[in-house]
Amino acid sequence: MDKYLVFGNPIAQSRSPFIHLKFAQQSQQIMHYDKYLSSHENFANDIKNFMAQGGKGANVTAPFKELAMQMCDSLSSAAKAAGAVNTLLFNEGRIVGDNTDGIGLVTDLLNQEVALKNKRVLLMGAGGAARGVILPLLAEHPKQVTLVNRTPAKANELAQLFADPRLNVIGYHETPQYQFDVIINATSASLQSQLPPLSPLCISPHTVCYDMVYGASLSPFLMWCQQQGAAQVIDGLGMLVGQAAASFSLWRNVTVQQQPVLTALRQQLQEG
Ligand code: NDP
Repeated sequence: MDKYLVFGNPIAQSRSPFIHLKFAQQSQQIMHYDKYLSSHENFANDIKNFMAQGGKGANVTAPFKELAMQMCDSLSSAAKAAGAVNTLLFNEGRIVGDNTDGIGLVTDLLNQEVALKNKRVLLMGAGGAARGVILPLLAEHPKQVTLVNRTPAKANELAQLFADPRLNVIGYHETPQYQFDVIINATSASLQSQLPPLSPLCISPHTVCYDMVYGASLSPFLMWCQQQGAAQVIDGLGMLVGQAAASFSLWRNVTVQQQPVLTALRQQLQEG
Protein backbone atom coordinates (compact mmCIF):
# COMPACT_ATOMS: atom_id res chain seq x y z
CA MET A 1 0.00 0.00 0.00
CA ASP A 2 1.28 3.51 -0.82
CA LYS A 3 2.50 5.23 2.33
CA TYR A 4 2.63 8.91 3.31
CA LEU A 5 3.70 10.64 6.52
CA VAL A 6 3.47 14.09 8.03
CA PHE A 7 6.68 15.12 9.84
CA GLY A 8 6.58 17.72 12.60
CA ASN A 9 7.44 18.48 16.20
CA PRO A 10 5.07 18.53 17.99
CA ILE A 11 2.88 16.33 15.82
CA ALA A 12 0.38 14.61 18.14
CA GLN A 13 -2.17 17.38 17.49
CA SER A 14 -2.01 17.01 13.69
CA ARG A 15 -5.34 16.62 11.90
CA SER A 16 -3.65 15.69 8.62
CA PRO A 17 -4.11 11.88 8.98
CA PHE A 18 -7.85 12.42 9.46
CA ILE A 19 -8.07 14.75 6.45
CA HIS A 20 -6.12 12.44 4.13
CA LEU A 21 -8.07 9.39 5.28
CA LYS A 22 -11.28 11.21 4.31
CA PHE A 23 -9.82 12.25 0.93
CA ALA A 24 -8.68 8.67 0.28
CA GLN A 25 -12.11 7.26 1.14
CA GLN A 26 -13.83 9.86 -1.02
CA SER A 27 -11.62 9.21 -4.07
CA GLN A 28 -11.21 5.45 -3.46
CA GLN A 29 -7.44 5.67 -3.18
CA ILE A 30 -5.71 2.79 -1.43
CA MET A 31 -3.10 4.46 0.73
CA HIS A 32 -1.96 4.94 4.30
CA TYR A 33 -1.14 8.30 5.94
CA ASP A 34 0.32 8.65 9.42
CA LYS A 35 2.13 11.22 11.58
CA TYR A 36 5.79 11.12 12.58
CA LEU A 37 7.54 12.97 15.39
CA SER A 38 10.93 14.09 14.10
CA SER A 39 13.74 16.31 15.41
CA HIS A 40 16.19 18.78 13.89
CA GLU A 41 19.02 16.26 14.30
CA ASN A 42 17.14 13.35 12.75
CA PHE A 43 14.94 15.03 10.17
CA ALA A 44 17.11 14.36 7.10
CA ASN A 45 17.66 10.73 8.08
CA ASP A 46 13.98 10.26 8.91
CA ILE A 47 13.07 11.40 5.41
CA LYS A 48 15.72 9.21 3.78
CA ASN A 49 14.64 6.17 5.81
CA PHE A 50 11.02 6.71 4.84
CA MET A 51 12.01 6.91 1.17
CA ALA A 52 14.11 3.75 1.53
CA GLN A 53 11.06 2.00 3.00
CA GLY A 54 9.07 2.89 -0.11
CA GLY A 55 7.27 6.01 1.13
CA LYS A 56 5.59 7.87 -1.73
CA GLY A 57 5.50 11.37 -0.28
CA ALA A 58 5.19 13.44 2.86
CA ASN A 59 3.85 16.57 4.40
CA VAL A 60 6.14 18.67 6.51
CA THR A 61 4.96 21.00 9.22
CA ALA A 62 6.62 23.26 11.79
CA PRO A 63 9.53 23.47 12.43
CA PHE A 64 10.92 21.54 9.46
CA LYS A 65 9.59 23.36 6.39
CA GLU A 66 12.87 25.15 5.65
CA LEU A 67 15.00 22.07 6.38
CA ALA A 68 12.81 20.06 4.02
CA MET A 69 13.39 22.58 1.26
CA GLN A 70 17.15 22.08 1.53
CA MET A 71 16.70 18.35 0.88
CA CYS A 72 14.76 18.76 -2.36
CA ASP A 73 16.18 17.97 -5.80
CA SER A 74 13.63 20.26 -7.44
CA LEU A 75 11.16 22.86 -6.22
CA SER A 76 7.86 24.25 -7.49
CA SER A 77 7.64 28.00 -8.03
CA ALA A 78 5.38 28.19 -4.96
CA ALA A 79 8.04 26.49 -2.82
CA LYS A 80 10.74 28.81 -4.14
CA ALA A 81 8.61 31.88 -3.41
CA ALA A 82 7.70 30.60 0.06
CA GLY A 83 11.28 29.62 0.90
CA ALA A 84 9.83 26.51 2.51
CA VAL A 85 8.07 23.29 1.55
CA ASN A 86 5.13 21.55 3.16
CA THR A 87 4.77 18.79 0.55
CA LEU A 88 7.32 16.26 -0.68
CA LEU A 89 6.85 13.91 -3.59
CA PHE A 90 9.32 11.04 -3.89
CA ASN A 91 10.01 10.16 -7.48
CA GLU A 92 12.55 7.44 -8.27
CA GLY A 93 14.86 8.50 -5.44
CA ARG A 94 14.47 12.22 -6.15
CA ILE A 95 12.61 14.63 -3.90
CA VAL A 96 10.24 17.18 -5.42
CA GLY A 97 9.22 19.97 -3.03
CA ASP A 98 6.06 22.06 -3.17
CA ASN A 99 4.31 24.51 -0.89
CA THR A 100 0.52 24.30 -0.86
CA ASP A 101 -0.20 26.60 2.12
CA GLY A 102 -0.80 29.63 -0.08
CA ILE A 103 -3.14 27.89 -2.46
CA GLY A 104 -4.91 26.44 0.61
CA LEU A 105 -5.59 29.94 1.93
CA VAL A 106 -6.70 31.40 -1.39
CA THR A 107 -8.94 28.41 -2.17
CA ASP A 108 -10.57 28.74 1.23
CA LEU A 109 -11.19 32.47 0.77
CA LEU A 110 -12.70 31.89 -2.67
CA ASN A 111 -14.80 28.95 -1.39
CA GLN A 112 -16.17 31.32 1.26
CA GLU A 113 -16.94 33.83 -1.48
CA VAL A 114 -14.38 36.34 -0.31
CA ALA A 115 -13.28 38.23 -3.43
CA LEU A 116 -9.70 39.42 -3.60
CA LYS A 117 -9.72 41.17 -6.96
CA ASN A 118 -9.19 44.94 -6.54
CA LYS A 119 -9.37 44.56 -2.76
CA ARG A 120 -7.11 46.07 -0.13
CA VAL A 121 -5.62 43.21 1.84
CA LEU A 122 -3.72 43.49 5.11
CA LEU A 123 -1.37 40.60 5.88
CA MET A 124 -0.17 40.56 9.49
CA GLY A 125 3.03 38.64 10.24
CA ALA A 126 6.23 38.01 8.32
CA GLY A 127 7.04 34.42 9.24
CA GLY A 128 6.91 31.34 7.03
CA ALA A 129 3.12 31.33 6.75
CA ALA A 130 2.96 34.97 5.60
CA ARG A 131 5.76 34.47 3.10
CA GLY A 132 4.03 31.40 1.63
CA VAL A 133 0.77 33.19 0.90
CA ILE A 134 2.09 36.40 -0.69
CA LEU A 135 2.46 35.08 -4.25
CA PRO A 136 -0.93 33.27 -4.34
CA LEU A 137 -2.59 36.40 -2.93
CA LEU A 138 -0.98 38.64 -5.57
CA ALA A 139 -2.11 36.17 -8.24
CA GLU A 140 -5.73 37.05 -7.35
CA HIS A 141 -5.18 40.66 -8.53
CA PRO A 142 -5.77 42.59 -5.29
CA LYS A 143 -5.44 46.37 -5.43
CA GLN A 144 -2.88 46.28 -2.62
CA VAL A 145 -1.36 43.80 -0.19
CA THR A 146 -0.08 45.62 2.88
CA LEU A 147 2.36 43.84 5.19
CA VAL A 148 2.61 44.67 8.88
CA ASN A 149 4.81 42.89 11.40
CA ARG A 150 5.85 43.32 15.02
CA THR A 151 9.48 43.30 13.86
CA PRO A 152 9.22 45.73 10.91
CA ALA A 153 12.59 44.73 9.37
CA LYS A 154 11.20 41.26 8.57
CA ALA A 155 8.22 42.72 6.71
CA ASN A 156 10.57 44.99 4.74
CA GLU A 157 12.71 41.97 3.82
CA LEU A 158 9.66 40.13 2.53
CA ALA A 159 8.51 43.11 0.48
CA GLN A 160 11.97 43.41 -1.09
CA LEU A 161 11.99 39.71 -1.90
CA PHE A 162 8.77 39.91 -3.91
CA ALA A 163 9.38 43.41 -5.30
CA ASP A 164 5.81 43.92 -6.48
CA PRO A 165 4.42 47.48 -6.69
CA ARG A 166 1.17 46.26 -5.10
CA LEU A 167 3.05 45.15 -1.98
CA ASN A 168 3.72 47.78 0.70
CA VAL A 169 4.77 47.77 4.33
CA ILE A 170 3.40 49.78 7.25
CA GLY A 171 4.01 49.71 10.99
CA TYR A 172 1.30 48.79 13.51
CA HIS A 173 1.43 52.39 14.78
CA GLU A 174 0.27 53.52 11.32
CA THR A 175 -2.72 51.17 11.13
CA PRO A 176 -5.25 53.78 12.45
CA GLN A 177 -4.86 55.56 9.08
CA TYR A 178 -6.11 52.64 6.98
CA GLN A 179 -9.17 50.51 6.33
CA PHE A 180 -8.95 47.12 4.65
CA ASP A 181 -11.36 44.84 2.79
CA VAL A 182 -9.64 41.66 3.94
CA ILE A 183 -7.39 41.27 7.01
CA ILE A 184 -5.37 38.07 7.31
CA ASN A 185 -3.73 37.19 10.60
CA ALA A 186 -0.64 35.15 9.71
CA THR A 187 0.92 35.73 13.14
CA SER A 188 1.09 33.11 15.84
CA ALA A 189 -0.32 35.61 18.39
CA SER A 190 -3.60 33.67 18.79
CA LEU A 191 -1.64 30.60 19.91
CA GLN A 192 -0.54 32.62 22.96
CA SER A 193 -4.00 34.17 23.37
CA GLN A 194 -2.57 37.51 22.30
CA LEU A 195 -3.81 40.15 19.89
CA PRO A 196 -1.59 41.81 17.30
CA PRO A 197 -1.59 45.57 18.04
CA LEU A 198 -3.91 46.39 15.15
CA SER A 199 -6.06 49.52 15.23
CA PRO A 200 -9.83 48.86 15.38
CA LEU A 201 -10.15 51.64 12.77
CA CYS A 202 -8.86 49.18 10.14
CA ILE A 203 -12.13 47.25 10.39
CA SER A 204 -15.19 48.57 8.61
CA PRO A 205 -18.64 46.88 8.37
CA HIS A 206 -17.60 45.19 5.12
CA THR A 207 -14.19 43.90 6.30
CA VAL A 208 -13.55 40.15 6.22
CA CYS A 209 -11.12 38.93 8.90
CA TYR A 210 -9.18 35.69 8.63
CA ASP A 211 -7.03 33.97 11.26
CA MET A 212 -4.75 31.15 10.11
CA VAL A 213 -5.05 29.68 13.60
CA TYR A 214 -8.07 27.44 14.22
CA GLY A 215 -9.65 25.76 17.21
CA ALA A 216 -12.90 24.58 18.75
CA SER A 217 -13.91 28.19 19.39
CA LEU A 218 -13.12 31.51 17.75
CA SER A 219 -9.56 32.76 18.24
CA PRO A 220 -9.02 35.91 20.38
CA PHE A 221 -8.31 37.84 17.17
CA LEU A 222 -11.52 36.76 15.44
CA MET A 223 -13.54 37.47 18.58
CA TRP A 224 -12.03 40.95 18.70
CA CYS A 225 -12.81 41.48 14.99
CA GLN A 226 -16.43 40.52 15.60
CA GLN A 227 -16.59 43.05 18.43
CA GLN A 228 -15.28 45.71 16.03
CA GLY A 229 -18.14 44.92 13.65
CA ALA A 230 -16.36 42.90 10.94
CA ALA A 231 -18.65 41.56 8.21
CA GLN A 232 -17.28 38.02 8.38
CA VAL A 233 -14.69 36.12 10.43
CA ILE A 234 -13.04 32.91 9.19
CA ASP A 235 -10.53 30.64 10.89
CA GLY A 236 -7.71 28.65 9.28
CA LEU A 237 -9.38 25.24 9.25
CA GLY A 238 -10.38 25.62 5.60
CA MET A 239 -6.79 26.60 4.78
CA LEU A 240 -5.61 23.41 6.45
CA VAL A 241 -8.02 21.32 4.37
CA GLY A 242 -7.15 23.32 1.24
CA GLN A 243 -3.41 22.78 1.54
CA ALA A 244 -4.03 19.08 2.20
CA ALA A 245 -6.25 18.82 -0.90
CA ALA A 246 -3.49 20.32 -3.04
CA SER A 247 -0.90 17.88 -1.60
CA PHE A 248 -3.29 14.97 -2.18
CA SER A 249 -3.84 16.06 -5.75
CA LEU A 250 -0.08 16.25 -6.36
CA TRP A 251 0.46 12.74 -4.99
CA ARG A 252 -2.60 10.96 -6.36
CA ASN A 253 -3.46 13.04 -9.41
CA VAL A 254 -7.10 13.38 -8.37
CA THR A 255 -9.19 16.36 -7.31
CA VAL A 256 -11.08 15.95 -4.05
CA GLN A 257 -14.07 17.72 -2.56
CA GLN A 258 -13.02 19.83 0.39
CA GLN A 259 -16.34 20.86 1.90
CA PRO A 260 -17.44 17.45 3.29
CA VAL A 261 -14.02 16.98 4.88
CA LEU A 262 -14.09 20.49 6.34
CA THR A 263 -17.52 19.80 7.83
CA ALA A 264 -16.35 16.50 9.36
CA LEU A 265 -13.19 18.09 10.69
CA ARG A 266 -15.11 21.00 12.23
CA GLN A 267 -17.36 18.50 13.99
CA GLN A 268 -14.38 16.49 15.24
CA LEU A 269 -12.73 19.66 16.54
CA GLN A 270 -15.85 20.73 18.41
CA GLU A 271 -16.26 17.30 19.98
CA GLY A 272 -12.76 17.74 21.42
P1 NDP B 1 6.46 31.99 12.52
O1 NDP B 1 6.92 31.63 13.88
O2 NDP B 1 7.37 31.80 11.35
O3 NDP B 1 6.02 33.56 12.51
C1 NDP B 1 5.22 34.07 13.52
C2 NDP B 1 4.82 35.51 13.19
O4 NDP B 1 3.90 35.96 14.18
C3 NDP B 1 5.98 36.49 13.17
O5 NDP B 1 5.78 37.42 12.14
C4 NDP B 1 5.86 37.16 14.55
O6 NDP B 1 6.37 38.48 14.58
C5 NDP B 1 4.35 37.22 14.70
N1 NDP B 1 3.91 37.29 16.09
C6 NDP B 1 4.00 36.36 17.06
N2 NDP B 1 3.42 36.79 18.19
C7 NDP B 1 2.93 38.02 17.93
C8 NDP B 1 2.21 38.99 18.71
N3 NDP B 1 1.89 38.76 19.99
N4 NDP B 1 1.86 40.15 18.12
C9 NDP B 1 2.17 40.39 16.82
N5 NDP B 1 2.85 39.52 16.05
C10 NDP B 1 3.23 38.35 16.59
O7 NDP B 1 5.09 31.20 12.30
P2 NDP B 1 4.41 30.78 10.92
O8 NDP B 1 4.52 31.92 9.99
O9 NDP B 1 4.94 29.46 10.49
O10 NDP B 1 2.89 30.54 11.36
C11 NDP B 1 2.05 31.62 11.76
C12 NDP B 1 0.72 31.05 12.19
O11 NDP B 1 0.02 30.49 11.09
C13 NDP B 1 0.86 29.93 13.22
O12 NDP B 1 -0.06 30.20 14.25
C14 NDP B 1 0.47 28.68 12.47
O13 NDP B 1 -0.17 27.75 13.31
C15 NDP B 1 -0.49 29.22 11.42
N6 NDP B 1 -0.53 28.40 10.21
C16 NDP B 1 -1.73 27.85 9.84
C17 NDP B 1 -1.83 27.08 8.70
C18 NDP B 1 -3.15 26.50 8.31
O14 NDP B 1 -3.18 25.63 7.44
N7 NDP B 1 -4.24 26.96 8.88
C19 NDP B 1 -0.65 26.81 7.85
C20 NDP B 1 0.56 27.46 8.30
C21 NDP B 1 0.61 28.21 9.47
P3 NDP B 1 7.96 38.75 14.78
O15 NDP B 1 8.56 38.64 13.41
O16 NDP B 1 7.99 40.14 15.31
O17 NDP B 1 8.46 37.71 15.74
